[in-house]
Amino acid sequence: MIMSNLALRKTEPAFGADLVETSVSDRSLASDEVEIEVLAAGICGSDLHAFAWDKGYEFMRPLLPVTIGHEFCGTVRGLGDAVTDDRSLAVGDQVVCWPTVPCGACWACQEGEPLGCEARRIIGLHRDGGFCARVRVPAANCLAVPPGMPPDVAALAEPLAIAIHAADLAEFKAGSRVVVLGPGPIGLAAAWIAAQEGARVLLVGLDDSQRLKLARGMGIEDVADLSEGSLADHVQEAFGGKVDRVIEATGAPASVEDGLLVLRPRGVLVAAGIHSGQCSIDLADFVRGKKQIRGAHDTTERAFRRAIDLLDRQGDALGRLISHRLPLRDALRGFELARGKTAMKIILYPNEIPGET
Ligand SMILES: [Zn+2]
Ligand SMILES: [Zn+2]
Repeated sequence: MIMSNLALRKTEPAFGADLVETSVSDRSLASDEVEIEVLAAGICGSDLHAFAWDKGYEFMRPLLPVTIGHEFCGTVRGLGDAVTDDRSLAVGDQVVCWPTVPCGACWACQEGEPLGCEARRIIGLHRDGGFCARVRVPAANCLAVPPGMPPDVAALAEPLAIAIHAADLAEFKAGSRVVVLGPGPIGLAAAWIAAQEGARVLLVGLDDSQRLKLARGMGIEDVADLSEGSLADHVQEAFGGKVDRVIEATGAPASVEDGLLVLRPRGVLVAAGIHSGQCSIDLADFVRGKKQIRGAHDTTERAFRRAIDLLDRQGDALGRLISHRLPLRDALRGFELARGKTAMKIILYPNEIPGET
């Protein structure tokens, strides 16, 4: 049976994306794949970069057209022949998707370190993703969520897992002084996790009054806007000195430079934003300060499972990250909203929005 399938696709190596009617393939599922009916899919910063055709996304050019979207939750509708019980997936299960597909063949993959894979492919960037009604993905990338978890909340699992991994890399302790730069979904989630774990957190934005207000509503008490003073001044005011950890989630290269300046000797800066430009670092200060920069990208299975668990236990609090809910046919409006600073997480619904008729 061939079904119609509205999809948001990157069709051209240029700004924008297109809503197109595709058809769900009538070829049989590959043996290791599952077919998912997408219930809810979040717009991510990397979707925005791909949409805007920012530097760093040229790798997509030979792969176009590609259906974008990688933060999705859906229902398993079909299983490939070789999908066995070890992932405990069954038709009807509600799942989320870890979008990274490691190559399985390189040194890192052979060593059981898929995060180090140099040939990994991302669902929704290298191959078709979740801004559509039906998507086929490797079963190995699916994680079941508890029955009854709202699909939009479940769709937060992927970005939350990214934030948890960034926070893990920062290795802070209870009482650590942590500055989080960038109050978007990843920065806010990382700040929320750090606060939950007992760190002293300052969340910083730039012309970000609305998102910082939302952060306060989620329990991040200390927030600062760089339109009202420098980072160094805000950090001094909040902590009376430099900080132990900086988590950068802005994608603005200058924020890495600024973050290093407020970091204490032997402190760690975790860079989690995707940067389209370069930054310059005062290497003498960096070396004499014995500082570290760690790149955080993607996530780990542990962090992903923790994200699902947190959403199960604290879905009401974390659900506040969702600022807009739109049908997939309004995806372009969603992208416009997401490019501004008033939206937090925007969820697109390929099929129907629950509660709406
Ligand atoms: Zn993402
Ligand atoms: Zn590999």
